[in-house]
Amino acid sequence: MRPEDLLCPSPKGLYSPAGDFYVDPVRAVPRALITHGHSDHARRGHGQVLATRETLDLMALRYGANFAGATQALAYGESVDINGVRVTAHPAGHVLGSAQMALDWRGLTIVASGDYKDAADPTCAPFAPVRCHVFISEATFGLPVFRHPDAAAETAKLVNSVGLFPERAHILGAYSLGKAQRMMALLRQAGHAAPLYVHGALTEITDYYEAKGMALGPIRPVKGVAKAELAGAIVIAPPMALTDVWTRNFPDPVTAFASGWMRVRARARQRGIELPLVVSDHADWDGLTASVAATGCEELWVTHGAEDALVHWAGTRGLRARPLHMVGYAEEDEDAQAAAEGEPPPAAAEGEAEAGAGDGAP
Ligand SMILES: [Zn+2]
Ligand SMILES: [Zn+2]
Repeated sequence: MRPEDLLCPSPKGLYSPAGDFYVDPVRAVPRALITHGHSDHARRGHGQVLATRETLDLMALRYGANFAGATQALAYGESVDINGVRVTAHPAGHVLGSAQMALDWRGLTIVASGDYKDAADPTCAPFAPVRCHVFISEATFGLPVFRHPDAAAETAKLVNSVGLFPERAHILGAYSLGKAQRMMALLRQAGHAAPLYVHGALTEITDYYEAKGMALGPIRPVKGVAKAELAGAIVIAPPMALTDVWTRNFPDPVTAFASGWMRVRARARQRGIELPLVVSDHADWDGLTASVAATGCEELWVTHGAEDALVHWAGTRGLRARPLHMVGYAEEDEDAQAAAEGEPPPAAAEGEAEAGAGDGAP
């Protein structure tokens, strides 16, 4: 019996020959386990989908109620049997509802973790390491140069900037599922009590987080709000909106972006970001290595990202390790989605533009 009989890479995603199902398949399949609601992992059109209640709900918000032929919810700690493979969901700490899927079969345990982080996040259950023989990890930030700073300290930079520039709007780019709501919670923890304005692409998901008990304070749609009212306000929008004509209708906007990639200065410059905030929903190098070690695994498979460094590190620890070179997983998909969901500028552009001097007219 080899681990590959329980789970192996295939062009459609990780496939279980023993259980006849896929994990986070990138193409439509008869039976899928979905680790979390991000669009690169949770695609529409599968026959049967097994995921947490939250992931199923978020998929329905995104794709409509008929996103799959049939669905089954699996709570954290709960198990189901699929063709003799026992599947158990455990918190991944990535976004609301994110789960690691533990597969048990004939005494062998493989954990497919999806995306995960071990850093604190007030908007989701914390990552729980699961003992296993084979751990499957992403490596988005799998290089020793990636060490994410404290998220509260990064958030304080935004709050301080609002204090310094009360006449300017602050537009914060954040992925619409997870990062946006985490930033809202972090801003509240930082003492920012004023209403937060949101782009239309964020409202449904944010409403869902609130319905699940997240206290995010006053949240208002930015659409239709007069430009003058947005001076000193924080507006949260999907990343793509930042490179849009959309931002022209705000008073002298400061553009911020919350992403682990903001650690790379060239990326911030390329996007024209004035205030980069290094806040990530992925584990950094220390988080990846600590999490792998905590599983006690004998073997590490790395799905995507900076695979080679993590594979090399595993080798130095005496673990068998292999890169899977899986394609189709990238957070950039979120950007594309946001673009597709784009909405018109917040207020009547004509009269407003004349009233405000220095708002970017050449
Ligand atoms: Zn993700
Ligand atoms: Zn991902």
